Amino acid sequence: MARIVMKFGGTSVADLDRIHNVARHVKREVTAGHEVAVVVSAMSGKTNELVGWVQGMPKVTGANSPFYDAREYDAIVASGELVTAGLLAIALQSMDINARSWQGWQIPIKTDSAHGAARILDIDGTEIIRRMAEGQVAVVAGFQGLGPDNRVATLGRGGSDTSAVAIAAAVKADRCDIYTDVDGVYTTDPRIEPKARRLKKIAFEEMLEMASLGAKVLQVRSVELAMVHKVRTFVRSSFEDPDAPGMGDLLNPPGTLICDEDEIVEQEVVTGIAYAKDEAQISLRRVADRPGVSAAIFGPLAESHINVDMIVQNISEDGSKTDMTFTVPSGDMEKALRVLEGAKEQVGFDVIQHETGLVKVSVIGIGMRSHAGVAASAFRALADKGINIKAITTSEIKISILIDGAYAELAVRTLHSVYGLDKK
Ligand code: ADP
Ligand code: ASP
Ligand code: MG
Repeated sequence: MARIVMKFGGTSVADLDRIHNVARHVKREVTAGHEVAVVVSAMSGKTNELVGWVQGMPKVTGANSPFYDAREYDAIVASGELVTAGLLAIALQSMDINARSWQGWQIPIKTDSAHGAARILDIDGTEIIRRMAEGQVAVVAGFQGLGPDNRVATLGRGGSDTSAVAIAAAVKADRCDIYTDVDGVYTTDPRIEPKARRLKKIAFEEMLEMASLGAKVLQVRSVELAMVHKVRTFVRSSFEDPDAPGMGDLLNPPGTLICDEDEIVEQEVVTGIAYAKDEAQISLRRVADRPGVSAAIFGPLAESHINVDMIVQNISEDGSKTDMTFTVPSGDMEKALRVLEGAKEQVGFDVIQHETGLVKVSVIGIGMRSHAGVAASAFRALADKGINIKAITTSEIKISILIDGAYAELAVRTLHSVYGLDKK
């Protein structure tokens, strides 16, 4: 007997038929004698609709976010998951499975106070463990917890993955299965590159990079938690027949295992390609080249919760002035420009230039640590396709390249093939 946490994303619970199909996956594991807790997302499109409603409301003066009160945003957008949790509990009951739905506050899943992007601080798994031992399935609403102000707090978009892994850690589950609309983690987004291959395993560090660099298949924080708490996490499909052979395999279920790199026998140099759309580039021209300038630029941006990514600073010709270029998500650009104008006196630049509609394409692989020439092949391949590179950043296991948005798909496919990732 094992203890399993099963998470089902938005497309997997998109309508009543699919919710019944999810119930069959749960039934399979319960019938096999396992203790099961389930985490669900809202029906696909629901959270977007709820967010849209909030954004359609008039601006409130004095609100703690630019447009609205973030606590009310959470009260509204957390509702999608309440519906699917209740519906799945009923679907399970109709199959004679003892099931009960749980909202975040009932467990409770305690979070910090960052409404809209809260982090889970603690989960009391006692009651769920007690009920699992009695044969009851807990169906937990993902994406939400209880903030220190005693109000519902949501975990940021895609946060149900994090709910699932955090619950798996709290109840010491043997496995956490993330069921979605693809049957695993691929070498790149299979929607962009049909030649993408499914990976049998991917190392935590690589998955962390893939997720932070745009592969939305897992929320970044869920990968961090899985890595820290050593949660055995699989990404697999809810669309396969729940009773097909091998679906209930305890040790090797179909899908992709996120694991320690030592578990991967055949490590490729490059494991995957990720891309992030909607990047904006900001350049400050003729900034003073003296200590404290970077702090004067990036300090205020950080205080305004703007996520700055690729930073490029040139060495100045005469030691007095330089250019500083960096990227932010397009949605934050206007805010960033306002913040920078406000800091103009301390920073002392001539002009700000900006550009939106850029894409960051990244090549990821642990094998890069011990291989030279990986970046050079990317640059060559993009040059051959006439794609201009606007900025580059690298780490031990990734290379990120900023390009014009129009070339996103071409660049992803080109890099995918250059590193031999195409399906044979
Ligand atoms: P869910 O609603 O189940 O949480 P998401 O839409 O959040 O599902 O994540 C699944 C999607 O992630 C897939 O449909 C796929 O298009 C996208 N995706 C992006 N990169 C990858 C990748 N490398 N491997 C698999 N899926 C990926
Ligand atoms: N429903 C939430 C979202 O769309 C959480 C999730 O699906 O993981 O972001
Ligand atoms: Mg998701």
